[in-house]
Amino acid sequence: MTNSKSTIKPQILILSFMLMLFSSCDKNNNFNVFSIEDDKQLGLQVRDEIAGNPQEFPLLSLEEYPEAYAYLNNIVDKILVSEDVGYRDEFAWEVRIIDQDVLNAFAVPGGYIYVYTGLIKYLDNEDDLAGVLAHEIAHVDQRHSTQQLQKQYGIQILLSVALGNDAGQLEQIAGALAGNLAGLKFSRDDEREADRYSVHYLEETDYQCNAAFSFFQKMLDNEEAGGTPAFLSTHPDPKERIADINATADEIGCDKTPLAPASYQDFKNSLP
Ligand code: ZN
Repeated sequence: MTNSKSTIKPQILILSFMLMLFSSCDKNNNFNVFSIEDDKQLGLQVRDEIAGNPQEFPLLSLEEYPEAYAYLNNIVDKILVSEDVGYRDEFAWEVRIIDQDVLNAFAVPGGYIYVYTGLIKYLDNEDDLAGVLAHEIAHVDQRHSTQQLQKQYGIQILLSVALGNDAGQLEQIAGALAGNLAGLKFSRDDEREADRYSVHYLEETDYQCNAAFSFFQKMLDNEEAGGTPAFLSTHPDPKERIADINATADEIGCDKTPLAPASYQDFKNSLP
């Protein structure tokens, strides 16, 4: 029995390798050696790393701020109604607020989204925040993180992770991802794609469909007023992004009227 087992194993490995080669285009038609399960597992590990590091990621407590989270989840739920979100049933779509004066938001594989209080307070209305969240949801749904990892770590290592040959590797990648979140770089194409998807997602909501442009517009306005945020020079050109987002909205002819409910001010005021 032990003998036959050891002769069969390489064949199984080759078979799974072949299967992966032929089945690695996902629901959204992207090539990815990670499975959806890998995305979910990786995401869970990064989520744990973040939860276990309150120094770097001071999460706003779910128990102390139930209304703020209900407010955020309502926005996310509205976006997830879009049929353009391929993995809305598979991924967790959990949002947490990080209590820091930082103008950023980021997303982790498997649907874990983080938004800083600094960004929420900087934005003027709910549409703008919906634009940011839609952009982050697109990064997750198009699986940009695992595609970047694929490029960064090489297919060889990732295949051994995916085939379960290297238990420690996935954990190591999760650690690297958690330690590098604010600086996790997506390609220009990924950013452009996430911007465009945000318009398609918001088209099916009552929000301003091109709302993702507002953040960049505000940054540019402030820059002209004297402050020059460092990341604007390293990211894809914000003017180009604004033009691209608006062009997508014109192309599909979606509604650019802001919903702008007054409750956004209350939401901002409720945060520490
Ligand atoms: Zn992005």
